Amino acid sequence: MYNVACIDLEGVLVPEMWPHIAAATGLSELNLTTREVSDYARLVEVRIRLLREHGIRLTDLQTLVETLEPMAGACAFVERLQQSYRLVLVSDAFLEMVLPLWHKLGEPELQCHHFECDAAGYIVQPHYVRRGGKQEALLPFQGCRTLAVGDAFNDLSMLRAASQGFLFRPSAETRAAATDLPVAYDYLDVLQGVGLTV
Ligand SMILES: [Mg+2]
Repeated sequence: MYNVACIDLEGVLVPEMWPHIAAATGLSELNLTTREVSDYARLVEVRIRLLREHGIRLTDLQTLVETLEPMAGACAFVERLQQSYRLVLVSDAFLEMVLPLWHKLGEPELQCHHFECDAAGYIVQPHYVRRGGKQEALLPFQGCRTLAVGDAFNDLSMLRAASQGFLFRPSAETRAAATDLPVAYDYLDVLQGVGLTV
C-alpha cells in the first residue's frame, strides 16, 4: 500500500489556458466553458472548429501557453507532496498544450487527453484518455491511500472517490454543488489537511 495524490492541473497548479488563448487571439468565443456548453467533447469540437476557421495551428497554441507560468507556490507544493505521495496530474486538458507547463512543474506523472493534427499542423481530432469522469483515474490505485485536489465540476467524482478530497479555490457554483467536500484556499490547507508539515 502506498499513497497516491491525483491533482487537477488548471485552476489548481496552473492558470486556465483557454481564457489566456482567447485574450491573446482576440477570439472571445474561445472563452466558452462547460458552463455554457455542458458536454465537454462538444466544447472541444467547437474550439477545434474555431481554431481552424481562424488559421490557428497547434504550434500557435503552444507558443501562447509557453508564456504562462505555474501558480505561485505550485512547484514547491508538487515537490512537497512527492516526498510522501506518488503524484499524478489528472487533467482534462490536452498533452500537446500542457507540455510547456508540465516541464515547468518538474515533469510529474501526467494523465490527460491528446490531439491529433493534420499535415498542416491544424488540430483535427481529440483522443480521450478516459470517457467517464475523473474518478476513473483512481481505479488503478484501489487499496492505496488516495488524495485528490481539484477546483471544478469535472473534479467532483474524483474528489469524492478519494480517501481525502479537497476543493481548491472553487467558484461559488462549484462550492454550492459540493458542500460535502472540504475547501482548500491555498496549498498549505491541503498539506495540513493530510498531516504534512511544511
Ligand atoms: Mg481545474
